[in-house]
Amino acid sequence: MAGIYIHIPFCRKACHYCNFHFSTSLQMREKMIHAIVKEIRLITVSREAGLSDYEPVETIYFGGGTPSLLDIVEINLIMQALIGSFEFTADPEITLEANPEDVTALKLEQWQTAGFNRLSVGIQSFSDKELVWMNRSHSAEDAKHCLELIRISGIRNFSIDLIYGSPLLTDENWKRHIDLLLEKNVPHLSCYALTVEPKTALFTLTSSGKKDPVNQEAQARQFVLLMEWMKQAGYEHYEISNFAIQGMRSRHNSSYWSGKPYYGFGPSAHSYAGNVRKWNISNNAMYIASLQKDQLPFEAETLSSIEQMNEYTMISLRTHEGLDLSQVGSRFGTYFVEKLKQAALKWKKGGKLIVEDEKIILTTEGKLFADGIAADLFF
Ligand code: SF4
Repeated sequence: MAGIYIHIPFCRKACHYCNFHFSTSLQMREKMIHAIVKEIRLITVSREAGLSDYEPVETIYFGGGTPSLLDIVEINLIMQALIGSFEFTADPEITLEANPEDVTALKLEQWQTAGFNRLSVGIQSFSDKELVWMNRSHSAEDAKHCLELIRISGIRNFSIDLIYGSPLLTDENWKRHIDLLLEKNVPHLSCYALTVEPKTALFTLTSSGKKDPVNQEAQARQFVLLMEWMKQAGYEHYEISNFAIQGMRSRHNSSYWSGKPYYGFGPSAHSYAGNVRKWNISNNAMYIASLQKDQLPFEAETLSSIEQMNEYTMISLRTHEGLDLSQVGSRFGTYFVEKLKQAALKWKKGGKLIVEDEKIILTTEGKLFADGIAADLFF
């Protein structure tokens, strides 16, 4: 089995752009930890999920929400449940998502002792103005300080998240942010365009004119600049939103993108294996209540071949390796290979993708239209 994802559904503050599942009330925190532990234990004795639980686990990822706000006792409870319930490969990658304000020398030591060998830090911006605009709970100084603490701790495998395309971000400041991460020898970057999702505070604020809307043109330009700068700095652009120096790709996310099965625990977490996808209820109180009754709180669906094919197209096109037509042939049949080749022709002529060695790969220009091109190749 590829990986395990643990969703910790608590945050100190609600970032205005965020549409993940989380609560800023920490009241149910203790019950939540016990519920997650219960879910891990129940899944290993249950076949209800329709997922295989015999293969050794290669990666664990604590995400959220803000898992770094948990104390070490809480983290260890979940870790122990995982260790007692699954087999692991010899060198699993174990990642913790952390917010800069939570990173201290003591916590870094505790996280390493607990088994984490990778951090993913939600910095988002090195500008105080932007951080306030996003309603983040940390300052630019916190962001820089946490990178210094990580350096001192000796943790070499870590990633930072940055967001581009906010109305406050000038190209000059964008360059400064990237220069700073290069100066700090950050080995992995996950970088997202600011999107205004429905039902977020940002949606309400931009719709009512209280905040400026996102400028799509500036956003596209900043993505192109980002690709140039990271290439010049020697980073692999191995997925649309991810850049890594040699050997520092995220193994956990790479497994998602290559279609390996995974388990998700915690409210709103998704699991996937072959043609079965399941997702837990996105409600903290209902998730806890269900597990208190020893019931797994999920819904599931079986994906048709067409749905699996489309999902593979969407995910693989975003990667450096691209869509593998020989894999399509063996998984779905030659009919799909021929149809994909035909559909790819117009994008190839327009310089948006290349087709070579039985692979369909986005060009730099094509990366600006990745979702639209994938949708056009759908069956
Ligand atoms: S810290 Fe992360 S999960 Fe929490 S509100 Fe902000 S973006 Fe969302």
